[in-house]
Amino acid sequence: MKTILVPIDLAHESGLQKTVDHAVALARMDGAELHALTVIPDYGMSLVGSFFPKNFSENAVKETTAALEAFVAAHFPADMDVTEHVRHGTIYEQIIEVANGLKADMIVMASHRPEMSDYLLGPNAARVVRHARQSVTVIR
Ligand code: ADP
Repeated sequence: MKTILVPIDLAHESGLQKTVDHAVALARMDGAELHALTVIPDYGMSLVGSFFPKNFSENAVKETTAALEAFVAAHFPADMDVTEHVRHGTIYEQIIEVANGLKADMIVMASHRPEMSDYLLGPNAARVVRHARQSVTVIR
């Protein structure tokens, strides 16, 4: 295994340490590269687009990149090289696109946000498990 992708939902980052720790352990075992990805969800930008300034998505990408870098610095071990990616679009589609683009061997993700304990697999985790060509490790 050479490349592991870890999709990170920065809006619900509490409880993600367990997922990060699993990804790091797998990466260390195989000497694999780690990639962290946050997707800025697309809530139908063509509809709201006219209400936002033109540089809205550019600023959102900049701010999200800074937030992801801070998350990585706080939650991944300092000696681990992590490449950050920020995309804009439909969450599960972007996760799959980035995984394919990186030729990732595995996706490691949390099953759902911690507050949602009454269902076993969140909507994005379910779609990634169903559609990804790679193995997906779902952390509970
Ligand atoms: P829930 O609705 O309970 O948050 P999800 O399926 O959306 O369930 O979340 C499970 C996992 O999906 C997250 O831990 C993360 O790996 C991935 N995910 C969700 N939203 C995003 C996002 N905006 N960017 C990257 N990954 C995400």
